[in-house]
Amino acid sequence: RANVKKITTGSQALDGLLGGGIETRTMTELFGEFGSGKTQICHQVSVNVQLPPEKGGLSGKALYIDTEGTFRTERIKAMASAIGLDPKEVLQNIMSIRAINTDHQIAIVEELQDIIARDESIKLIVVDSVTSHFRAEYSGRENLAVRQQKLNRHLHQLVRLAEIYDLAVIVTNQVMARPDMFYGDPTVAVGGHTLYHVPGIRVQIKKSRGNRRIARMVDAPHLPEGEVVFSITNTGIRD
Ligand code: ADP
Ligand code: MG
Repeated sequence: RANVKKITTGSQALDGLLGGGIETRTMTELFGEFGSGKTQICHQVSVNVQLPPEKGGLSGKALYIDTEGTFRTERIKAMASAIGLDPKEVLQNIMSIRAINTDHQIAIVEELQDIIARDESIKLIVVDSVTSHFRAEYSGRENLAVRQQKLNRHLHQLVRLAEIYDLAVIVTNQVMARPDMFYGDPTVAVGGHTLYHVPGIRVQIKKSRGNRRIARMVDAPHLPEGEVVFSITNTGIRD
């Protein structure tokens, strides 16, 4: 794990859970129910990656694959202004791409290799959410095997990009609060653990009181298990 770099999330507690921040050379999966804050963290890290290293960034750009239409330029601008960055510049350094279905999402990631090879200042790839199109298009037991095969291949491609180009990958995965609703769904085990046979870091985000959220490290290969509390404020992710 030599040369791994970290991007601050904006919360010292969450950074601590992650061993310093979102890591390069690996994929970090954020999973949790609707409204838990997965998209907010993706927005914040897309801003923070642009900070200089001494402020917790990588002086890099972000590539944001938006599958649910929840990318918000206004939110990016607010988060940028709050940390003293120029909102317009920050927005220009985030390439957002709306993926309309699984084939499109897969094709975008297949083209990323060329895009990143041409612009190695890209230091973060976000796929928010990585599972929604797959779940919608391959619903039903008879489609599970094909879905899982396609999704695993897609995830492995993302991991490869992280390793080759020393960049961070964040994917989100919405799971319901009631895990029994996912009985029979191989992407989610009872208890909300994901079952990807893909290397990476998995963090569960749970709602707490008001704007408070709980992040829990799950099955981390090199990080201790644990839980921390952070907040989603009008300026972004904070302690
Ligand atoms: P998920 O992607 O996990 O479904 P989101 O990241 O969209 O969830 O989180 C939505 C929550 O983030 C909202 O319910 C609200 O609590 C918080 N939030 C979103 N925008 C703002 C804002 N501008 N100011 C404060 N909190 C916000
Ligand atoms: Mg979301």
